[in-house]
Amino acid sequence: MSEPMKAPGDGALMIHCRHAAVLLSKREDAPLARADALKLKLHLALCRHCRNAARQFAAIGLALRRWRDGDG
Ligand SMILES: [Zn+2]
Repeated sequence: MSEPMKAPGDGALMIHCRHAAVLLSKREDAPLARADALKLKLHLALCRHCRNAARQFAAIGLALRRWRDGDG
């Protein structure tokens, strides 16, 4: 039961920025499902805004983990 790959832009794989942000924040808690990870990767490849957001999420996630571990 595998869907055929569709070209970006027809709405099948390309997700909305808001959806990408949700996936980014999820990813800080737990690894994403393969399909979600792929969609996010594709979106980040095409969307500069979300690439910047991803960097910030990564920095925030790191800071949060340090804070949670009581390491400053
Ligand atoms: Zn985006």
